[in-house]
Amino acid sequence: MAGGNIWLTEIRLLLALLVGGVLGGMFLGRPLLGFCAALLLVLIRWSFQLRGIHQWMNQPSADPPEGSGAWGQVLDNIYQLQRRNREAQLRLESALDYLQDSLSAMRDAAVIVDSRENIAWANDSANFLLGIKFPDDQGRSLRNLVRSPVFQDYFEADDYSSPLRSPPYVEGDRCLHFEVARFGVGDRLVFCRDITENYRLEQMRRDFVGNVSHELRTPLTVIKGYVDTLQAMEEFCEPRFAGPLEQMGQQTTRMENLVRDLLWLSRIESVETLRKTESLDMAALINDIVAQIEPAYPNRPIQIELKSDTRVLGDRSELQSALSNLVINALKYSEGNVKVCWQDEGECAVFSVTDRGIGIGQQHISRLTERFYRVDKSRSNDGGGTGLGLAIVKHVAASHQAELLIESELGVGSCFSLSFPAAPPP
Ligand code: ADP
Repeated sequence: MAGGNIWLTEIRLLLALLVGGVLGGMFLGRPLLGFCAALLLVLIRWSFQLRGIHQWMNQPSADPPEGSGAWGQVLDNIYQLQRRNREAQLRLESALDYLQDSLSAMRDAAVIVDSRENIAWANDSANFLLGIKFPDDQGRSLRNLVRSPVFQDYFEADDYSSPLRSPPYVEGDRCLHFEVARFGVGDRLVFCRDITENYRLEQMRRDFVGNVSHELRTPLTVIKGYVDTLQAMEEFCEPRFAGPLEQMGQQTTRMENLVRDLLWLSRIESVETLRKTESLDMAALINDIVAQIEPAYPNRPIQIELKSDTRVLGDRSELQSALSNLVINALKYSEGNVKVCWQDEGECAVFSVTDRGIGIGQQHISRLTERFYRVDKSRSNDGGGTGLGLAIVKHVAASHQAELLIESELGVGSCFSLSFPAAPPP
């Protein structure tokens, strides 16, 4: 029956009862008493219905009480609503179970952290990879359980645009790859993968390159020594010997530079993840670097602008090699003035080298930091380059949390800059 009709019937029933009560009362000579008795009957019926609803509400899983008329309709509506809610809740629970099951089955660790950085949920792999036991560790701070300093810094920095690689600290530790995603109100989902195997392979490759370069050093020194001796001998000064000997000398020098850069690169790579602790006066360092380079490039003025006294936490020799590579490149690939600048930009301090040289086509820029990538091979070789300079700069930048920015226009010039986070005050 439609809701409107039910209420009409209920009102009719109520009126009939009251009229019946008044008529009955009139018959007995007490119409008011009859009216009151009818009203009392109505109230008793409603009280019973209300009591039934109250009991049912306290025990919603029980069947709804019997109700007649409008009360029956109200009970029916509540029952339907309750059933729909229960079905929706079941669907939600099963979707949640399904999601949790799939996260639990993953080999990667998944941990849900609430807005106060406490663990809300973790899968089984989290126990294996991070030592987080669920539900035992529920409500405990994630930072108290994952104690890797690199992870702590990453988690605190709140910038999850790129993943984190946490290297093993002691022999036998795992190398872990972390990704963090935000959801809800301040909640975070932390994914962690074991990449120890990749790390070992990379280390093997690094060791191999390092060892080969090291082994090549001794024979090269011997060859270089003999070439120098032969060049100094009178009988080898005639043109048929002098030309080949000069070429041999040049090529051995090139090989020596190559071996030196390869060794240096593998050393930088191997300590890339170690925190730098020395607070360096960059302005003084830049002055030293320019003073060392200048004599090798006479008639090439280097303009220095030191507008900041910001210090940087770093490794002196690594920074020395990266900054001098940038200055030497600017001198090699241009003919005019070169400008070196150190200045504050927001929270960072920026080292930049600007030249008005040959410039670089846009298509090359993203590949410049690859090992042995050259825009113009013959020109680079003429300048004595090894093709490893910018690869060294890239690794030094990474190990100092600095950003390398390359701006260049073909035929106009280039600007290479390194943006460093400022060292905290001593
Ligand atoms: P190389 O030893 O060949 O200079 P780098 O790694 O230092 O090796 O540089 C890679 C390539 O980037 C160079 O071969 C050169 O083509 C280009 N390059 C680097 N710096 C500059 C610059 N200031 N101007 C133009 N080209 C540059």
